[in-house]
Amino acid sequence: MFDAAIAKRIRLIGFDVDGVLTENDVWIGGVSDHREEFKRFDIQDGFGIRLLRDSAITVAWVTGRVSPSTLLRAGELKVPHVVTVNANNKVPAFGALLSELKIGWDEVAFVGDDIPDMPVMQRVALPIAVANARDEVKAVAKYVTEARGGHGAVRETIDRLLKSRGEFDAAVAKFFAGGETPT
Ligand SMILES: [Mg+2]
Repeated sequence: MFDAAIAKRIRLIGFDVDGVLTENDVWIGGVSDHREEFKRFDIQDGFGIRLLRDSAITVAWVTGRVSPSTLLRAGELKVPHVVTVNANNKVPAFGALLSELKIGWDEVAFVGDDIPDMPVMQRVALPIAVANARDEVKAVAKYVTEARGGHGAVRETIDRLLKSRGEFDAAVAKFFAGGETPT
């Protein structure tokens, strides 16, 4: 479980994409100038994000790598905020989103796996590293998931966050009461 007081404060959870929502692989193929890219996303992770849709916690994906696959998956899951960072440091773009939403760094959880995630993780209330994160990233995390990125780390984080807030059962009940299909 997370610290209940910190968990209850969280209003936004940010996820890095490659290595967190995926297992870190990008499949690249194509013919001459036609390029295609594939990523594999975990369906149970997707259901976790679906559960958050009706909660008080909003979701942001924060990526340094523009990718149609990422945008397609984010669209399917109706992820409300996708931040594409065109710089080495994710802090300014992510910070701008927080300002826009009037959410403080102390009301944010962030899940990362690699060096570019560290400046954000060092600012948020609940920094989380996935099992496959680099050692430096694990060192700045308050929690390290048992599951690997692309293999349930996101779902593990969301379940734990909702359970630490005492909101998991209500989120599941809300899902069954609704008519929407999970993606
Ligand atoms: Mg990453």
